[in-house]
This record gives sequence, structure tokens and C-alpha cells, in this order.
Amino acid sequence: MSLLKLPVATLGTPRIGPRRELKFALESYWAGKSTEAQLLEAAAGLRAANWARQKSLGVTVIPSNDFSLYDHVLDTSAMVGAIPDIYGWKGGPVALTTYFAMSRGAQNQDHGADCGHAHHGHGAAAQEMTKWFDTNYHYMVPEFHDGQTFTLSSRKPIEEYEEAKSLGYQTRPVLVGPVTFLKLGKSANAGFDPLSLLDRLLPVYIEVLRELASRGAEWVQLDEPCLVLDLDETARSALRRAYGRFALEMPGIKIMLASYFGAIGDNLETALALPVAGLHVDLVRAPEQLDQIASRVRKDLVLSLGVVDGRNVWRSNLPALLERLEPAVARLGKDRVQLAPSCSMLHVPIDLDLEIDLDSEVKGWLAFSVQKMKELATLGQALGGDRAGASEVLAASEQAAASRKASPKIHHANVARQMSAINESMRRRRSGFAHRARVQRERFALPKFPTTTIGSFPQTADVRAARAAHTRGTLSDAQYRTFLKGETARAVRWQEEIGLDVLVHGEFERNDMVQYFGEQLSGFAFTRHGWVQSYGSRYVRPPILFGDVSRPKPMTVEWWRYAQSLTKKPMKAMLTGPVTILNWSFVRDDIPRSEACRQIALAIRDEVMDLESAGATMIQIDEAALREGLPLRKSEWKAYLDWAVDSFRVSSSGVADETQIHTHMCYSEFNDIIDAIATMDADVISIETSRSKMELLEAFKNYKYPNEIGPGIYDIHSPRVPETAEMKNLISLARKQLSDSQLWINPDCGLKTRRWEEVRPALVNMVAAARELRAAP
Ligand code: GLN
Ligand code: ZN
Repeated sequence: MSLLKLPVATLGTPRIGPRRELKFALESYWAGKSTEAQLLEAAAGLRAANWARQKSLGVTVIPSNDFSLYDHVLDTSAMVGAIPDIYGWKGGPVALTTYFAMSRGAQNQDHGADCGHAHHGHGAAAQEMTKWFDTNYHYMVPEFHDGQTFTLSSRKPIEEYEEAKSLGYQTRPVLVGPVTFLKLGKSANAGFDPLSLLDRLLPVYIEVLRELASRGAEWVQLDEPCLVLDLDETARSALRRAYGRFALEMPGIKIMLASYFGAIGDNLETALALPVAGLHVDLVRAPEQLDQIASRVRKDLVLSLGVVDGRNVWRSNLPALLERLEPAVARLGKDRVQLAPSCSMLHVPIDLDLEIDLDSEVKGWLAFSVQKMKELATLGQALGGDRAGASEVLAASEQAAASRKASPKIHHANVARQMSAINESMRRRRSGFAHRARVQRERFALPKFPTTTIGSFPQTADVRAARAAHTRGTLSDAQYRTFLKGETARAVRWQEEIGLDVLVHGEFERNDMVQYFGEQLSGFAFTRHGWVQSYGSRYVRPPILFGDVSRPKPMTVEWWRYAQSLTKKPMKAMLTGPVTILNWSFVRDDIPRSEACRQIALAIRDEVMDLESAGATMIQIDEAALREGLPLRKSEWKAYLDWAVDSFRVSSSGVADETQIHTHMCYSEFNDIIDAIATMDADVISIETSRSKMELLEAFKNYKYPNEIGPGIYDIHSPRVPETAEMKNLISLARKQLSDSQLWINPDCGLKTRRWEEVRPALVNMVAAARELRAAP
């Protein structure tokens, strides 16, 4: 028996650098403080370090072209020359200025930092941005038009292959597959299916593959995560057509076709029939695929087994994995198997060893990209036959798994008790909406078209500086509190002055709408360097939800109480909802997500009850990320929505009829979830509508949605200050869809990323719009 290690691949690695080097290099270049050459040099340095790191950790199938200055889908648009006319591109190699105009807008205008979580488009001239499958990574949406043509316009894949080669690495270049690329795109012409462009697109891919092959590339990785979506016959035949042509025209290079983010499921027959040399499957999200595929796969197909979680931060239990993998490897043969993470490691932080102040027990349960590579190398060694040589590492891995399973840091009997005590009455408001609305109307006596905001006011440089100083310890707790009180008081006074009807405290004390709560709940851990790319140069550090969640003490009551003490008007209390906290965190994988979510819901419920006892009459529970948690497959939507809505109801239903529950969602697509929204039964929902010209209210109208709604009439993603007339016009469009008694007047979302200079006139105009409508309806 040979002791050959099995090949170990990464599929793709984080680009940002362990210390966010890429972000700083980009921002310095954008600010005109460094040259293009300096930026490119920094990028090359990151790539070289990345290749070296992989090699030293035992990765044998090293990718190239997984790096990107901004986004790999944008890179693909550049590669094939899919560049809309507005960028003034005249053909030829795509210049960096064009590339950044597509990603950030031509005038380097405001970049739409939005809610800190980047789920929106930004500056007018930039391409639209949207979520990459069900991750929190955002890609630039390719734009196609009728008559679109493609030419090879960026040689990046070839250049980066050569760059690696010159440094001594034989790499497997990665490309976004042609079918996924077209499917992710949008068309400027209605009714035009981008997939119809396939035959025009393929020659560019073939040219790239040919050039790679001629320079010595043996394999190329083509990412087709669309394989895990619900595909129609058009898409399936596009896959057959694309890979059929590659096989025909490019016999010289082997294709590793990569699926990830779920089960190939009903596309399996299509996938297995494609004439490719290798297939990568996600065995973390869909472990059942191993047996399905091993028994049906062509004798000459190489299988890349995605066994280490590329989407989450947990350490693997290697001996348990080996047990599962050994029979499959024996059956397939060692020469046909590669080991890999479930997907590119773009979605996990880089190196756990940088975390010096993470609780050491919790740290022992985690693995970031570096640690995951080591795990894969160990698996490769053991499966290759050298189990003895790996025994120490394997034992440590098993021990970590056992410690995690038993740790009192994770399992709390109290939480279990409360979870099993959730009953029907906890999920239901005392009375139906019609009754509540009557009681609340009487209580609040608000004018018609009541005005409010979504919660946050500008997080100015001053606010951020004070927070940083407090974190550093140069500003004492008391000084920081005094500062925050000052900001809050000023915001409250100003809201009164301009005549808003329902006030907010401004959220100055919050670093982030999820982190703020995570830091006060038990069961969450935070990293110092655990950044993952959200989009472009924007990275986030998601909280790590590792254990049972509970709330040691009230989290927001003091700030609310202070703010309410400053005014007689209703002060809306502000919370982040359980589904949003869950969806923007790394979540434990030892219990179902639904259960983790309900635990958070119980903690938020306690907070809601405490706020009510303290005198809060209106409580907003934001569910900004509810929609983005929708599973990739439609067949799984209902199960998700059921527990997501249930969690919201658990968190919100304890209050009296006269307490008004608000929720907020910042998106513009409600048709699919209107049923769920109605089931949430919030008294008031505010949503993002200003850009859609109120068209999305149709979903509410058709549903005969009975509760109150605040459709956003101020686009907070733009620095522009809308005029009163413009806002009145939007309201009049809303009135065509909904009854006056349902309508609230508010911006699209929180104002934390805006400047006071924009917010002040915009909200003054907004209040004027409501007043004018009241006077002359
Ligand atoms: N209350 C939050 C704010 O105003 C809501 C943000 C969001 O929905 N993303 O910032
Ligand atoms: Zn929002």
C-alpha cells in the first residue's frame, strides 16, 4: 500500500490579507495617496503570500485567479468585455479606472455604506450589487443587453497563472463558469434571457482555456454553483452545451467543475453526464451526496470532496470524518479523490492564531482558513495511508470535538428549560390587529401620516472617534457615557424641533446592530481579526454564536429610559430581531439554526418585556436580514419562513395590546414573503421603497395586508436630499396602493451612514410633506 497523500485543494482563499492589507491598499489608491503601480504591487504581494501559505500548509492543488481587487464576478465581466456603454469603454484591455468605475461609480461618489451590511446597491453609476448565493458576500451584477458581444478584454486569469508559475507554483486557475456567470447577470432589455448569449460567450472562455493550456496549466476549476439551484431545462441544456463544447474544443485541459453551497439534487443527472474531468461536491451542506455520487459516477471522473466547512468557523472532527471517508475512498480509488473545503474559503476569516484574546476554550473549537488547510492536509495524509503519522493531530481533533460537546460554556439547563416552555400563547398577541389598532390609536392620538425614522442617526467621525477612544481605554466609561448622552439629547431635541411625531434615540452607543446585542448576550464570541469580505473593500467581523443564548441583564433599557426622559413624544425603543442576529453571525452547527434562533428570540423577548415595564409604548424589532436568509431551493423556503416568523413572534408577542410593535426590513422584494410578513403581525412595518417608485407595495395591496406600513420615501443610500414635492409624489403613489389610515412616513432605512448636513434638510422636507398632505389631502 502506497503512502501517497491525497491531493488537497482550497478552491479559493481569502484575498484580503491577514491584516486587511488589501483594504488599506485600495483605500489609499482611491484617495490618491498611492499609485496604480503601488496598488498592483501590494496585490501581487498578497497573492505570493497566499500561495506560499498554502504550499507550506500542505495544500497541493493551489488555485490562481481566486484573487480579486474588488470582486471575482466583476473580474469575469471584465474578462469577457461585458461592460455597459456608460463606462465609456472603447474596447481593448479594461483599465483599472474602468474597473473601479464599474464597482464604485465614476465620480467616486458616496459608496452607500448603507446598513453596514452592504445589501444594497450604491452610487448611481456603479453596477448593481447583490448577494452571492446565500452568503454575505456581494458581487457586482453583470449587465447584458440584446446584441451583446464578448471579447477577451482582461487577461487576468492568464497573467495570474503565469505569475504563480514564475514563483514556482503550478496552479489550477479558477474561473466563474459561463452558465453561472450568465445566470447571475441581468438584462437591460425586458424579456431577454442572458442564457441566450451562451454561444457568443463560449469562444472567450475557450480562448482563455487554450491560453492557459498552452502555458502549461493541466487543470482549470470552473465554478458552477448554479448547480445547487432550481434549474429549468434551459439552464440544464446550457450546461450540457457549454461543457460539451469545451470537451470538443479543448481536450488539452482538464476541468474541475465545482458545485457548492448545497446539494446538486435534481441536477445530478445533468452534472454527472457532463464531459468534465472532475466534479467538486459540497459534503458539508449535503453529506448524503457522497454515497449518491460514489455509486453512480463515471469510472474516470475525479471527485473533489468538500468535507471541511468553507462557510463556517468550526473545527472538524477529523477521526469522525475519516470514518465516513475511508469506505468511499476505498471504493473510488485514491487516484480519483481530492480533498477540499465545501466551497472557496473566501467566506471564513484567515488565521485563528491571530486571536490572542479569544477565550481559549472557545478558540479550541474553531478553525479559520489556515487551520482548515491544515485539517485537509491531515486528512490527505491519513487517507493516503499514513494514519500513524497523523495520530497526534487526529487525537487532538477528536478531543476538541468531545470538549465542545460537553462544555458547560455551551449547554445551559436554564435555556433548555425555557425553550421547552415556549407555548402557543407566547407566540400570539393578546388580541388581533383590528382591536390593537383601535386601542393604540386612542392611546397615541397621532396625526394622519405619522412621521418617524428607522432608528440610527449619523455615526459621525466624532462618534466613531469617541468609541475608538473608549475601546482603547483613553476615554473612561463615564466620559464615554457623558458623550453619548450629549449626542442623544441633541438628536432628541432636534427631532422635537422639526416636528417628527415618533422619536428615536439615535443608536449612537451602537457599533453595529448585531454586534451590539451579541456583546451583551451570553453565547457569543468576538474576534479581533476575523474579517470576511462583504463586498469590495468592505469587510465584516461576524459574531460567533457558539453556545446557548441568554441575556444576563437588560441591554437597551437604560438608553431608552434616558431618551424618553427628554421628551413627551413617544420614544420608539430599538432592537435587532432574532433572525437578523442569526443571519449575520457564524452560527453553531451542533443544533439546528431554528433552535439557535428561538434561543435568541427568548432573549429579545425578555428585553421587550423589560422595555415595556420601563414604560416604552412603541418597540421596534428590526429584521433587516429576514429575507436574505431564504434557502437557495424553493422547496426549503416554507420551513425556513415558518421558524423565522415564529422566532419573531416569540420575541414580540408578550406585550399588551396597547404597546405598539414595529418592525423594519430594508429590501424591496416582498412578493415571495408577504404571507410570512403578515404572519409576523407587527403593528407597523417600515420598508425600503423609495427607489422602486412604490411598485413593491403591490404585494401588500394584493394581499390586502391589514396592518400599518411605512414605505420609505427618502433614499438613504444616496447623499442627495429629496425635495418635499418629490416625497409628496411618492406618498401619493403609496396612497394608490394602501389606505391612508395604514400609512406612516419615514426614510428607507437608518441614517447612520449619512451626514447631518444631508439628514437635516431631508427630514425637514419629509415632515413638510406629511404636513402638507394633512392640510390638503
Ligand atoms: N434600526 C437600524 C438603524 O436604523 C436598522 C438598520 C437596518 O435595518 N439595517 O440603523
Ligand atoms: Zn434597513
